[in-house]
Amino acid sequence: MRIILLGAAGSGKGTQGQLIERHYGFPRISTGDLLRLEVQKGTELGKMVEEIMKAGQLVADELVLEVVKARLQAQDCRSGYVLDGYPRTLNQALLLEQLDRSRPETVLEIQISEEAVLKRLAGRRVCAQCGAVYNNEPGTELQCQACGGKLIIRSDDRPEVIRERFRIYRETVGPLLAHYSRKQVLFPVDGDRTVEEVFEAIKLILDSRISGHQEN
Ligand SMILES: [Zn+2]
Repeated sequence: MRIILLGAAGSGKGTQGQLIERHYGFPRISTGDLLRLEVQKGTELGKMVEEIMKAGQLVADELVLEVVKARLQAQDCRSGYVLDGYPRTLNQALLLEQLDRSRPETVLEIQISEEAVLKRLAGRRVCAQCGAVYNNEPGTELQCQACGGKLIIRSDDRPEVIRERFRIYRETVGPLLAHYSRKQVLFPVDGDRTVEEVFEAIKLILDSRISGHQEN
């Protein structure tokens, strides 16, 4: 099963990806992590990626595809995988389909309103010293429990940044949703619930998709 997770930042899709990995054994593949790893390893590809990122530009589809392609060939991806952060565009989706025609596809869109994301991220603080993340009630001032550092709001979590990110997400995901909906592989999930409730909903979808394909 090829599982694709779609959802705005703050929808909780990273957490759900990890839960799917733990429950089903499909590795969660985040393209952000993969690209950062290439940069860290200092590979040829990594050097190219680093320059593009430094210039504040988006890494080209073909380049991201190279990284994804290499990862999908690994042994642990044989029975399936969960993609988080890829594809982001219709072009990337089409490239991915050329790469992997064999596995049935399930696209989960974790839906959440802008207001819910704002509420969720309003309490998020990070330690200025060690980077630990805390989800506090809005307004509670605390010190880092690990190192005693000051807790601050990440610049990414300011309301105006969240709103802009949300707008861009809605804009870019539209063609992808239309594409997957046409293929009848799109499954919306209400993300404005607890982590456990969202995962229960995801399990219902995946279990029926997996058993459906085994019977065929
Ligand atoms: Zn700290």
